[in-house]
Amino acid sequence: MAMATCGGAEKTLRPALALFGGAFNPVHRGHLALASEIESRLGLREILFIPTGAPPHKEPPKISCEERKLMLDLAIRDHPGWRSSDIECRMEGFSFTARTISALAIDPPPFFVMGEDAFADFWNWGHPEVILSGAHLLVVTRPGADVRRTREGVFTVLRASGLLDPVAGEAVSGVHEGRLRDAVWKLPYFGTTLRYLRIEAMDVSSTDLRNGLAGKDRNRWADLLPDAVKSYIVKKRIYQ
Ligand code: ATP
Repeated sequence: MAMATCGGAEKTLRPALALFGGAFNPVHRGHLALASEIESRLGLREILFIPTGAPPHKEPPKISCEERKLMLDLAIRDHPGWRSSDIECRMEGFSFTARTISALAIDPPPFFVMGEDAFADFWNWGHPEVILSGAHLLVVTRPGADVRRTREGVFTVLRASGLLDPVAGEAVSGVHEGRLRDAVWKLPYFGTTLRYLRIEAMDVSSTDLRNGLAGKDRNRWADLLPDAVKSYIVKKRIYQ
């Protein structure tokens, strides 16, 4: 697979830890497939799942942060190297990712993982420059995402980093099978990188799952949940 790199980013700036933030309302097999694939492809030692408290850009989830974390813990408990954090559950006010990254202050900077759909809005998040200073951004395929928006997102980050060199420009315009090619861009201004990784993503979202679980086909939808989460949801009758 073609890999565009700028400078020596690949060798020197590859973290062993990835932060994976999301509502996880509920956590589904698509989240876990993503985590497994980045773990093996990037040789990660650890993935820290961080359920959002009160996200600034979305309606607050009806299920509490603590209960979403509990379901996450059920989903990841048998996987060595996967942990969850309650940092955003404990945060007063909006849980901006920039606040979380600043509070964790992990050195060397970890990856921060996001699907393409989330990345398309990244520049509207609170203090994206703080996120880019504290973490390497890892953007992965999300079925149904608009590749043009992903490409625009990459351009925005590169420009903010004072960089839009011909190599990067070529890589960003390199769309293959309707998706970007794998690429790593070094961000000189922030001292981190932006990476795009094509993964075998599952076409599932928590929104579809919540709607499905509330309908008459709920058993079929429940198959998209990790087994222990499915049992918990059935027992507690949530999302019905
Ligand atoms: P919702 O439908 O409620 O927005 P979601 O399924 O997108 O939920 P989140 O918990 O909000 O799940 O997602 C957390 C992160 O995981 C986001 O960056 C999102 O892009 C990514 N993600 C979620 N589902 C998938 C998937 N099936 N494939 C790839 N990335 C995903």
